[in-house]
Amino acid sequence: MILSEEHELLREAVREIALKELAPRAEDADHNMTFPAAQLKALAASGMLMIKYPEKYGGAGGDNLASAIVAEETARECLSSSTTSLVQMLSGDCIFLYGTEEQKMKYMPKMATGELLGCFALTEPGAGSDASNMSTVGVDKGDHYLVNGTKTFITNAEYGDFIVAFVKTNPERGARGVTAMILEKGQFQVSKHEDKMGMRASNTCEVVIKDAKVPKENVLGKPGLGFIIAMSALNGGRIGAAAQAVGMMQAMLDESIAYAKQREQFGKPIGSNQAIQWMIADMAKDLNAARQLTYHAAALTDSGKPSSTEASMAKLFATEVGIKHASNAVQIHGGYGYCKPSKVERMYRDIRILTIYEGTSEVQRMVISNNIMK
Ligand SMILES: Cc1cc2nc3c(=O)[nH]c(=O)nc-3n(C[C@H](O)[C@H](O)[C@H](O)COP(=O)(O)OP(=O)(O)OC[C@H]3O[C@@H](n4cnc5c(N)ncnc54)[C@H](O)[C@@H]3O)c2cc1C
Repeated sequence: MILSEEHELLREAVREIALKELAPRAEDADHNMTFPAAQLKALAASGMLMIKYPEKYGGAGGDNLASAIVAEETARECLSSSTTSLVQMLSGDCIFLYGTEEQKMKYMPKMATGELLGCFALTEPGAGSDASNMSTVGVDKGDHYLVNGTKTFITNAEYGDFIVAFVKTNPERGARGVTAMILEKGQFQVSKHEDKMGMRASNTCEVVIKDAKVPKENVLGKPGLGFIIAMSALNGGRIGAAAQAVGMMQAMLDESIAYAKQREQFGKPIGSNQAIQWMIADMAKDLNAARQLTYHAAALTDSGKPSSTEASMAKLFATEVGIKHASNAVQIHGGYGYCKPSKVERMYRDIRILTIYEGTSEVQRMVISNNIMK
């Protein structure tokens, strides 16, 4: 798929911001687990944070393909910053696709400027891949729900102004008894910070919700529609994760080629050996295929056609080959690739999350086979 001139210009613009604002801070932010607030601000200032939404909601009138390009180019320099903004869009999608006009106007323009930070709270300690088996409950109290439960691995939670929480309001109905609702700061508390192997500047926390009185006007869509809302948002999230893998593979390919040309052993550049050339050739081939799958899934979503199979295929393929080639990029860099401050060392740790969040590889295979075998 050949990108339009508009999308290519967008890529150049994001690349410039990523090189100026994300790349210089990436190593230090990873080491100190520093939340990428300045990076988020820079993305917001240039209209990249909520790019795909209409201008009236603070967006730039872009599309899902534009969002994928932003995820790709930001992850190419700093996955933590990329994920912080991707989750802003995940909560944004829930509001944009299912919120009332009032809810959209209340949250989205401020999310675009970075004034409000959103979280997406689906996973629980006992409900990961089997997300509809959640035990967070909301009891109907007339004008509000009384919500109690624990959500785990919630990105942005410590800095979040609100969470879109998925809550069982009718437990007998299983997935059809889940309701999506917005909980404001103060209605949820961070109970644990995760100390992660990679993507360390992205904030990941366990969140406890205790006797939160959530007004019914904070419900998104209708009661019982929550699981459908979560899956709709995750469709975009999966394309985003695929794009992140593409951006990281591009970075690892660039680093590997440069190192292979410069590093000499046995009196010649290591890149003159076929063993190294083949690793680089395979990386470039899989990168190209992953990019095409990702752009196709995004363009299909933009056309209004069903894209859940294609989003899962792109996520599954791009993230799995991404992990494989991250390992090869470290191999090409030898001992230097295993030590800081090598970019491939950080990327090798960072990229590992991509086959886990937004649905594991096994879940993507379930989605694909369910869709094509029904
Ligand atoms: C850094 C990070 C950020 C995250 N951010 C968020 C967030 O912002 N919001 C949010 O809601 N969640 C978030 N998550 C949670 C993430 O989506 C879950 O970790 C993921 O869905 C997997 O759930 P689990 O960890 O409970 O693993 P489990 O579901 O327990 O799975 C463990 C293993 O078993 C496999 N498995 C499970 N069921 C099957 C099956 N039927 N067939 C074959 N294999 C199976 C899985 O694929 C996996 O390999 C985040 C997680 C991390 C680590």
